[in-house]
Amino acid sequence: MKSLDKKKLIKIFAELYPDPQSELNFKNDYQLLISVILSAQCTDKKVNQVTPTLFKSYPNFKQLALAKVNEVENIIRAVNYYKTKSKNIIATAKHVTEEHRGKLPVTRQALEALPGVGRKTASVVLSEKGIEPAFPVDTHVFRVSKRLGLAESDKRDKVEEEVKQAFTPSLWRELHHWLIFHGRRVCKANRPLCSSCALNKMCPSSLS
Ligand code: SF4
Repeated sequence: MKSLDKKKLIKIFAELYPDPQSELNFKNDYQLLISVILSAQCTDKKVNQVTPTLFKSYPNFKQLALAKVNEVENIIRAVNYYKTKSKNIIATAKHVTEEHRGKLPVTRQALEALPGVGRKTASVVLSEKGIEPAFPVDTHVFRVSKRLGLAESDKRDKVEEEVKQAFTPSLWRELHHWLIFHGRRVCKANRPLCSSCALNKMCPSSLS
């Protein structure tokens, strides 16, 4: 990071978004993992629309492991890539039931071994559970980090490293949520609302 005042950025973000939490609705480890898998390349809003029925029909890994693919597809149809995700969440539920006695794995290696779970999904779970500091880079985090000058790379894993090096690990989780909140509400992909953005005086990409 070059010129951005990190302390000021954190202060503004903390004032703008005092409760930086996931916008996915989940009540336990099972619901967390399945919701995060479903949220890949899909909005949290759409995921939250389908998960109440999904979790009512299949309340734990064991029950989901026994589900029929077409029945899960019917429930999660509103979610992007619902066919692939239906297969993945059933396969993941089987793996967790058989290899981890129905309990959420708590290491990055074990999480990334699950079908449909890549680095970002594992990072979200590790971060949300407080298992280890992580900085998941989704499309909002990637875009806003670059616009703010927090990272320069065009590769997600490099952006992750650049931002992690610039901030203490105890801030990664909050910063991840702040960047998502800001990307969804203000620093939008096609039309960033720079004139009303609280960061426009310090942002190197400000259009206002
Ligand atoms: S000033 Fe514009 S580009 Fe910079 S963070 Fe705000 S909305 Fe995004």
